[in-house]
Amino acid sequence: MEKMLSLIVPVYNEEEVLNVSFEKMDAEMKKIGYPYEIIYINDGSRDGSMKILRAIAKDNPQVKVRSFSRNFGHQTAVTCGMDAARGDALIIIDVDLQDPPEVIADMVKAWENGADIAYGKRLKRKGETVFKKFTAFMYYRVLKSMSASAIPLDTGDFRLIDRKVADVFLRMREHNRFLRGMSGWMGFEAVPIEYVRNERYAGKTKYTLKKMLRLASDGIVGFSDRPLTLCGEFGTGLLVLDFLGLIALIVLACLKVPFPAWLWALVGMVALNGITLLFMSLQGMYLNRMYDELKARPLYIVAEELNMEK
Ligand code: UDP
Ligand code: MG
Repeated sequence: MEKMLSLIVPVYNEEEVLNVSFEKMDAEMKKIGYPYEIIYINDGSRDGSMKILRAIAKDNPQVKVRSFSRNFGHQTAVTCGMDAARGDALIIIDVDLQDPPEVIADMVKAWENGADIAYGKRLKRKGETVFKKFTAFMYYRVLKSMSASAIPLDTGDFRLIDRKVADVFLRMREHNRFLRGMSGWMGFEAVPIEYVRNERYAGKTKYTLKKMLRLASDGIVGFSDRPLTLCGEFGTGLLVLDFLGLIALIVLACLKVPFPAWLWALVGMVALNGITLLFMSLQGMYLNRMYDELKARPLYIVAEELNMEK
């Protein structure tokens, strides 16, 4: 049977871009040549987006639309699109044409050559503030240094995933979702496709600073236990320093060098603080394990089987 592609496009207050965006993406998908569906997730838009989507869907049976009752956020919208997709490969793309639709063809080629994931890697970001570029640059590096999962640098959600990767996503129902981290955690054969990120076609970013901070913390909290155990290292450092201080005081006392008596109290207080921090990190370890169990991710992911009885 011929393979099919699903394009997943989250939409939040995008009336200025929707029509042009659909035309460009639809033309690109036609050019690629596989049967396809375009799934729009209206993430609780309060502008005319839904009206435009209704009009597009009326004339184009390949277009499917799911509309949320309110704004649930970009990552949830994309997940909903994955749930609905029926394709053999799923492509996740922003509606604002910042992810150039021409790159989809390269992703599909990588997929035909056996890639399970073909992810867009940004060489450059056009038309974004220095603040956004700098914070994004730093963020990906901090996250990488803190996380055990292979989360590629400078990579957003623009990517193609094979059906078998999508099926694993469907099994991961954690609420605080950071899709690029989940994808890195899964493994599979991931191929970077380099591209230059365009300016937004029209309108303003829908990722407010608050939403961005939320996503950033979902990435760190979901994919690193460092924040929970960091205090243990502080505690250990504090105890080591405190121990040195204690030795110094004992030496001074033996040599009968005068020093204020409250220094003994200080040494005692610092020791107690260090111990408290150590026990906090111990609790952190239990918390982390509970969080892990609650996420209920699959224990393992099989990518291929040979001679296995079903
Ligand atoms: N989006 C969404 N829900 C939100 C915020 C954004 O579905 O709460 C969509 C938005 O319509 C776009 C994509 O997610 O298709 C990326 O958003 P945006 O372009 O505003 O983010 P930026 O590119 O500025 O990071
Ligand atoms: Mg954008």
